[in-house]
Amino acid sequence: MTSKRSAVIIGAGIGGIATSVYLAKSGYDVTVFEKNSAPGGRCGQLIRDGHRFDLGATMLMMPDIYRDVFDSLGIPLFENIEIKPLENLYKIYFDNNEVIAFTTDKEKMKAQHEAIEPGSYLKSRKYVEDGYEIFQLGMNKLIGRNFDNIFQFANFRNIGMLIKLKTYVSNWKYAKKFFSDSHLRMAYTFQNIYVGQSPFNSPALFSMVPAAELTEGSFFPKGGMYTIVEKLLSEALRSGVKINYNNAVKKISINGKKAEGIILEDGSEIRSDIVVANADLPYVYRKLLPDRAKSQRLDKLKYSCSAICFHWGLDKTYPQLGHHSVFLSDGFRDGLDKIFIEKSVSDQPSFYIHAPARTDPDAAPAGGDTLSFIIGSGHVDKMKKQDWDMLKKQTHKALVNRLKKLGLEDIEEHIKFEICYTPESWESACNITRGSVFGSIAHNLLQMGYFRPHNQHSRYKNLYFTGGSTHPGNGIPNVLLSAKLTSERILKN
Ligand SMILES: Cc1cc2nc3c(=O)[nH]c(=O)nc-3n(C[C@H](O)[C@H](O)[C@H](O)COP(=O)(O)OP(=O)(O)OC[C@H]3O[C@@H](n4cnc5c(N)ncnc54)[C@H](O)[C@@H]3O)c2cc1C
Repeated sequence: MTSKRSAVIIGAGIGGIATSVYLAKSGYDVTVFEKNSAPGGRCGQLIRDGHRFDLGATMLMMPDIYRDVFDSLGIPLFENIEIKPLENLYKIYFDNNEVIAFTTDKEKMKAQHEAIEPGSYLKSRKYVEDGYEIFQLGMNKLIGRNFDNIFQFANFRNIGMLIKLKTYVSNWKYAKKFFSDSHLRMAYTFQNIYVGQSPFNSPALFSMVPAAELTEGSFFPKGGMYTIVEKLLSEALRSGVKINYNNAVKKISINGKKAEGIILEDGSEIRSDIVVANADLPYVYRKLLPDRAKSQRLDKLKYSCSAICFHWGLDKTYPQLGHHSVFLSDGFRDGLDKIFIEKSVSDQPSFYIHAPARTDPDAAPAGGDTLSFIIGSGHVDKMKKQDWDMLKKQTHKALVNRLKKLGLEDIEEHIKFEICYTPESWESACNITRGSVFGSIAHNLLQMGYFRPHNQHSRYKNLYFTGGSTHPGNGIPNVLLSAKLTSERILKN
């Protein structure tokens, strides 16, 4: 009898667990090592005093990608899990009290657009329809496939595609062609922050994000985004995957041109036929591998921004807030400059609030509320003076003041506890380089597709990568695709 080929996976994030299922179902003997005490990484969960928080991801969008990947894993995504479409994708609040609720309901969108800028509804439809075409083209040609060589990516035919994908103009400039009103421009471009970019500096390719949301809708699973992790995890365990928590990998053992396995923090060595790193790719090159030169090259790349996240357990409910709320500050541009140039946070930041108990009452104890805030911030930069403790206090104050303006006068008195993640906490919680939580390596054109660090090591051919910092990039739909593409490459090889 021939013995099974073995695979070791470093990290139990969405990317690591999904890859473990693909490999186990293809006959591999799979063992996962996770440094933390629980799975999920940036899609982790925290429960305290009856308040349930999704630590990172909160929005389930691009549901067709979830469906595709789960189908290919043989997991019925919608079985034993209630995934609800949300009536509003999010409500966007501006400083002058103007509000627009993004929804897939066209009549509601029309009324709101026409009230803000007459004639803008038809333009918004064009923006969304073109953006959705970009999304579909991008999925087929750029995001949803492996590249084996540069010619598959940068060939004559693809030049036309890159033009169609609006890679030559910034997202902000592109939105300007559609909307004169600056609030509408902000409303259609702030989503760039999902991939850690500024709309002033990233290609209009990313108009695909609001377009996909407004076409396919936004969803929320009962139990929170962590149920996606649980669903993958139970299939992994059912398929025979062994998962070891509180087990940090210290090194990948290399012999010549081969990865021979891993060495754990306690010194024990695990040998395997292949190694898959789900941990942040630049961190793996810097800390787990011997290649200094490659690590230094990775260090010179552009990195995504980071985020300060607050999780509040409250002893009062605030029905004024919907499931997802976005507050866009008058200082939108300055705020982005603070993040991307100064590597800091504005004192009047734009921010996002997740209030899951609106859709899933179990997320908060009766009479209480569970709120999570995400505020884009600069990533950790040793060349800058960054006082995260001061910035955390300053940001907390700015949030409270903004919510008071919305009528939540007494909110500060009702915070029972606060948990905060700064860029430094993200860096240590999940080993994410510079705390650049949105994919670590930025998503500019020269760092995407074939140019993004590959999912197979160029020298150690049995070492692979999966997750947000390799191809295609950040966000759970992309990470699921990454697991699929990496597994396809492994199985093909
Ligand atoms: C604040 C925030 C909001 C977000 N919102 C959304 C959203 O609404 N929708 C969406 O789709 N996406 C969202 N995302 C992005 C999404 O969460 C990530 O893209 C995704 O979870 C990343 O998964 P991953 O598997 O690539 O990496 P990770 O989740 O980082 O997993 C890597 C794992 O490797 C482990 N590890 C690292 N080093 C070692 C080591 N040496 N040994 C063992 N284990 C190790 C880590 O602990 C971690 O568990 C958000 C992210 C953040 C931070």
